[in-house]
Amino acid sequence: MRLGYSYRLYPDGPQREALARAFGCARVVYNDALAARKAAHEAGEPYISDAAMSARLTESKATPGRAWLGEVSSVVLQQALADLNRAYRNFFNSATGKRKGAKVAPPRFRSRKDRRQAVRFTANSRFRVLDNDRLRLPKIGDVEVRWSRPLPAEPSSVTVIRDAAGRYFASFVVEASPKPLPEAEAECGIDLGLAHFAVMDDGTKVTAPRFLRRAERKLKRAQRDLSRKQKGSRNRDKARVKVARAHAHVADARRDFHHKLSTKVIRENQAVYVENLSVKGLARTRLAKSVHDAGWSAFMVMLEYKAALHGREFYRIGRFEPTSQVCSACGVKDGPKPLAVREWECAACGTVHDRDVNAAKNILALGRRESLNARGGQVRPPLAVAQAVESGSRRSAA
Ligand SMILES: [Zn+2]
Repeated sequence: MRLGYSYRLYPDGPQREALARAFGCARVVYNDALAARKAAHEAGEPYISDAAMSARLTESKATPGRAWLGEVSSVVLQQALADLNRAYRNFFNSATGKRKGAKVAPPRFRSRKDRRQAVRFTANSRFRVLDNDRLRLPKIGDVEVRWSRPLPAEPSSVTVIRDAAGRYFASFVVEASPKPLPEAEAECGIDLGLAHFAVMDDGTKVTAPRFLRRAERKLKRAQRDLSRKQKGSRNRDKARVKVARAHAHVADARRDFHHKLSTKVIRENQAVYVENLSVKGLARTRLAKSVHDAGWSAFMVMLEYKAALHGREFYRIGRFEPTSQVCSACGVKDGPKPLAVREWECAACGTVHDRDVNAAKNILALGRRESLNARGGQVRPPLAVAQAVESGSRRSAA
């Protein structure tokens, strides 16, 4: 399975300039190709094939207007085309129903103002980790890396990212072989919620750790400061950088929290069942901010790939199951309850329930039933691992 490993990079001045050039060139190649395909489409011509697009790139590098593209690794430019091809493929597959899930929008032009700038080097571009621990990037240089943990195997590609806070990261894709853990007795149902980040069927309630809450408070303060600054002023620019930094810290702290919790849950349980909240659906409601802040989907992706890696089972329970309406003790359906109701007594058996713990218990029971059904019929293929893992494993670099 493919896993992502990210590390903080510390390019020096000339390397930062070379990277800025690479980001710029990749963006131009991407945008040129997108414009060409859009123009062909508007003219009623057929879709320009990937091969034809690649040939066009080679041609354009020979023209005086685009000769400067030769200053960056050609792999970076080819990968920019590959990004566009993938974006189109996803869009087409989504439009024709071949790809399930939320609709994918058509590719958009990239901008130098995008919060995230990135270029990708593949193995044939001969990037290399040197004996002196630096990362050699073609036409960039030997860049200093903070190796927060070892790379488990030879990486097949590396994406170099500059985030909104101006920090640089190298994200390696590594083919990892599964590392099964000794079998565990326990199984666990998890209810992801707003009052608590996660509630387990055994009654454990997990709230965001203090370091994350502190980072969030700092971010709020920075945002407030920014809103008070005069438009176009120097101080506003400074405040904007502060907000970007605070954002980055919150993201790091949250990722750290998700990593610790998902590792613990996977280590302690043989099977993990989580209610598959319609995160996308919720995100359009007024709960939106909390949904994005909580980062449930990132957490579930971690659970999923760690389960696959360590020989555990992970199931998402359908979101239409009324987990908060059914008494986990006697199974009587008690009807919907407003979110404000945190505790209730079952009219049938008299059990007093904590709303979230009861939901987690139901998730566990439902999950066991579903997985039993699945095993009765056929052996489940290993769960697919989302590419999102790539950013999921970035370590806190503060
Ligand atoms: Zn009951």
